[in-house]
Amino acid sequence: MSRLPVMSNKRVLMSSSSSENSQDLAPLQKKSRKDSDPPPKPQAAATVIMSKRPIATARPNVSKPIRRTGAATVATGPSRAGVLKPAMSTAAKSANVKPTTGAKVGGGTKRAPWDLKGKVCDMEEKIQNYQTRVKSVNQENEVLKGSMVQTRQRASEMEKELEKQRGQISAFQKQLEELSGVQEELEKVSMEKDTLQKSLCNLEGKYKIMETLRDSQEVELQTLKMKLSVQESSLARLQQTLRETEEEVQSLKETVSQQKDELYSGEMERRKLHNAIQELKGNIRVFCRVRPLVDGGLSKHIHLASDDKTSISLAKTEESHTGKGTDTQKNYNFSFDRVFGPQASQQDVFEEISLLVQSALDGYNVCCFAYGQTGSGKTYTMEGDEVHESRGVIPRAVQQIFKASDKLSSQGWEFTFTASFVEIYNETLRDLLYKGKADKRPEHEIRKSTNNELTVTNLTYQKVACEDQVLGLIALANQNRSTAQTAQNDRSSRSHSVFKLDIEGVNVGRDVKCKSALCLVDLAGSERMVKSQSQGDRFKEMTAINSSLSNLGIVITALANKESYVPYRNSKLTYLLQNCLGGNSKTLMFVNIAPEPDSFGETLNSLRFASKVNDCVIGTASANRK
Ligand code: ADP
Ligand code: MG
Repeated sequence: MSRLPVMSNKRVLMSSSSSENSQDLAPLQKKSRKDSDPPPKPQAAATVIMSKRPIATARPNVSKPIRRTGAATVATGPSRAGVLKPAMSTAAKSANVKPTTGAKVGGGTKRAPWDLKGKVCDMEEKIQNYQTRVKSVNQENEVLKGSMVQTRQRASEMEKELEKQRGQISAFQKQLEELSGVQEELEKVSMEKDTLQKSLCNLEGKYKIMETLRDSQEVELQTLKMKLSVQESSLARLQQTLRETEEEVQSLKETVSQQKDELYSGEMERRKLHNAIQELKGNIRVFCRVRPLVDGGLSKHIHLASDDKTSISLAKTEESHTGKGTDTQKNYNFSFDRVFGPQASQQDVFEEISLLVQSALDGYNVCCFAYGQTGSGKTYTMEGDEVHESRGVIPRAVQQIFKASDKLSSQGWEFTFTASFVEIYNETLRDLLYKGKADKRPEHEIRKSTNNELTVTNLTYQKVACEDQVLGLIALANQNRSTAQTAQNDRSSRSHSVFKLDIEGVNVGRDVKCKSALCLVDLAGSERMVKSQSQGDRFKEMTAINSSLSNLGIVITALANKESYVPYRNSKLTYLLQNCLGGNSKTLMFVNIAPEPDSFGETLNSLRFASKVNDCVIGTASANRK
């Protein structure tokens, strides 16, 4: 103890150059120089605590936990270790200095070897220092223990937390895995969403278009509704009108059927009256027609009364046989139903016979002859020329019949017309409508059926419906005649030609039928031959003509006298015309006259024949109705 140097305050201050030392020395300085030194900082303890650790390690009595804590502290606080370094060195210094401190103090502030008291003082200070340090180290130890417990607690908490976190992490990982699946799904879904969005966009576009469309259609609908309502009202109006019209139509139909009945009975009445008139006019009528001279005009020997259209007279001047007296003039007067002069047109002539043609359509048989010498105008009267105005009786008659049948069709009548054209030459029948080869001409016979109908075998029966067809048939007939003409001179004048139109009418609604025939006959020339001139074929022809014409006269006379026997079969002509002559028919005879003076004799003969026929009264005709 005596060796311990006594340190003065001054020296301590001088020797502690470092701040740590000055801090370590602070309590001592406090004690010694309270007024001059600043009070020690509270951190000083902590600083001291730090620097104590190496000291603690150096001490064997320091408990293990403390050391460990120190190590832990050192380990956990590298910065603190750095801080501790100087402290350690100070501690080491102060630990190791014991023997050297004196030397060191002595080196800088070395107490004089005599200053034992000072040295003791120093030592005491040091001890005090150490004690303070121990105390603070203990305190620190306590604190560290507490903090260690806390730290352990915290560690276990942390571990728990860690476990929890791990659990959470694995849960999160699971979730993550799930989420990655979900993400794929999400991607898919998002792709789908994109697609859907695109289609949505499309649809929206379409929707907009549709909306526009809808708007326009709504407008249209509105317009249509308006139109509909207008049309509905007009429909209702029309329906009302229709109902009224239907009622009207119904009543009109009734009226029509009533009027049809009336018309039918009126038509029947007309026929009856028409027939009565014809009968009053005579069922056989004779018209005389005088042909004009070639240069027009008329011969002096023929006289036609200007005011009377029914008489004709021929005048013949005869020279006095004695030669002394004046020439005597002999007049031959004839009267007929009608006499046509040279100026009479085809139309004038036809007008007179058109009533008979109407009778043919009404169901009566009608026969029209042209009688006269060759060149008197028979063919002109019956057929006429091709010039329209010069058309003869045949084309005009068929025209009238077709027109009248058209009118009757509105009353339910349906007509069919069949034409035939026959030539009778030398008591032989020849088909004038034949179209085949000349060398294959068939022969014809007149046949009578059980129902008294006459037909000609192998004859052409041609259905006709218009005038042109009939004109065509007339042309064909003329062609057929002219071929025969070249073979035999003037044949046509020596043959009869018979145009026949068979008329059949049906009124289906009233179940009425009618059948009749219209015969238009161009007779052979009536001229008589001087017997001496007639030889061979010519004589034969003349005989045939004479016999047939005279037989026609006989038949008509027999009919007029209502004789029981009528010699129809005596000639082909009367046999063929059997049904058109007699009680059931109307007959018209044209007597054609040539005006030339040299035809006087023939003219007289013709007029005599005709007037004989004209005197006949044929029995009352009755219509062929079934
Ligand atoms: P038929 O047949 O009697 O032998 P046609 O009819 O051939 O006589 O007449 C002889 C000629 O006289 C013909 O050229 C004809 O054109 C003409 N003819 C006959 N009648 C008349 C008449 N009414 N008006 C004018 N010409 C007529
Ligand atoms: Mg003729």
